[in-house]
Amino acid sequence: MTGSRIFIALVACSVVGCAAPPEPADMILTNGRIYTLDWDDPDLEGVPAPNAPFSDSWQPDAEAIAVSGGMVVAAGTSDEIERWRDDSTEVVDLQGATAIPGLVESHSHAAGLGRNLRRLDLRGVIGEEDAVELIVAKAAETPPGEWILGWGFDEGEWATHGYPDNDLLSRQVPDHPVVLSGLHGFATWANQRALDEAGIDADTPTPSGGTVSRDSAGNPTGIFLNRASGMLGAAIPDAGAAQLEEDLRLGLEELARSGYVRVHEAGVGSSLLAAMESLDARGALPTRVFAMLSARDEPLSRRFIESGPVAEAAGSRLAVQSVKAYYDAALGSRGARMIEDYSDMPGHRGTSGNDYGFDQALVAELMAAGFQVGIHAIGDAGNRETLDFIAGVYEEAEGTEARRHRIEHAQVIHPDDLTRLAELGITASMQPPHAVEDKTWAEERVGPDRIRGAYAWRSLRRAGTSVIFSSDLAGSDHSIFYGLHAAVTRRDKQAEPMAGWYP
Ligand SMILES: [Zn+2]
Repeated sequence: MTGSRIFIALVACSVVGCAAPPEPADMILTNGRIYTLDWDDPDLEGVPAPNAPFSDSWQPDAEAIAVSGGMVVAAGTSDEIERWRDDSTEVVDLQGATAIPGLVESHSHAAGLGRNLRRLDLRGVIGEEDAVELIVAKAAETPPGEWILGWGFDEGEWATHGYPDNDLLSRQVPDHPVVLSGLHGFATWANQRALDEAGIDADTPTPSGGTVSRDSAGNPTGIFLNRASGMLGAAIPDAGAAQLEEDLRLGLEELARSGYVRVHEAGVGSSLLAAMESLDARGALPTRVFAMLSARDEPLSRRFIESGPVAEAAGSRLAVQSVKAYYDAALGSRGARMIEDYSDMPGHRGTSGNDYGFDQALVAELMAAGFQVGIHAIGDAGNRETLDFIAGVYEEAEGTEARRHRIEHAQVIHPDDLTRLAELGITASMQPPHAVEDKTWAEERVGPDRIRGAYAWRSLRRAGTSVIFSSDLAGSDHSIFYGLHAAVTRRDKQAEPMAGWYP
């Protein structure tokens, strides 16, 4: 903020002509189409602010900027910015290219993005047979006995068509344990060899908040949903600290290439934090990292309740000031907690709270210790219960309301709750790609009425809520252009539907 005020002052200065010549800049970007974004927010209906560079269309508001000491100190025409140049100034000729400020990815799984580069990619694969064909090909080039890990089938899409069992998969790939994760981590599909190695059989209990598909004899058939989706995790050989660090580095490097300068990593456990600290100590973090500690890692949470939040130190790129907790699961896999039954599964309302492993006391302690929380809530009951929980903590622990807490996804909100986020000062952390990707099955889950309170960005803004957007990568494409496209048009990558999905 301070930086941007200084910058306005200097631009004004350059326009009226200052007596003192400016200090030479460290760097000048010139001859570009620069959008400073240094104008007010659009109004609640989306109309650009009067001081925005918009008439019939958007236009860049500068051609050049000067940078000193890591701060933008001036913006203007290329001629105006020449004044900041001397022999020591680095000059970058943009040759008409567009420049925008560095981006913040506010909900990401960057280590997962790096890891996915090593795993079998099932994105866009709909049918069981197509998936098995890809896995057979992977098995042909993998030594027998070695684990085959994959990811990326669409939980919601597969749930709608009916999840497969593992008969075909186990017959075609008998010699490798195979574990495949859904796009958003709320469904796992595994073959018999993997179940054997994990020791999962008819006697294995189903964890609360989870679903294990079973045959008539009670034997698991290879599909694990919601809280059960992590059941095979312990059996998969640990990639090791060095591999995790490399996965994180690769993921962040890809984000840096895509224009991001700071990444909020949602759900950081002990080993991932160690990887971040190791990279940071070597000056090797490709972007700034805002770590949201996983409230599922109790020892780590306890450690930070002792120390309190850790802000980014000089020379560091790592801040640990936030916590990610999980109140319910996902809509596609029908784990999100709903006030009324799912429209396509009478008698079923999903799971939440203690049943889903949400440790109220621990999260309240973290909030009292000064942490911001970002609580995952998808269903209308999940969101309502999360709002009740946060309001309760405000009453019990003084000062906790000042931390800009967030609800992650805030996907389906009951009309009665629409104003409560603003009243409680809670930010809705939402993902435009989810709307345009979930649209094929979301309405089946919640029906024609509740869908109007789903992915309701404008309604939340009208109610005075601060809304932030992100991609929730690696489940969705992190390209800012895709995110903006989804947010503005409510169309998918194929530009469907023409008129936008509930525009
Ligand atoms: Zn996420």
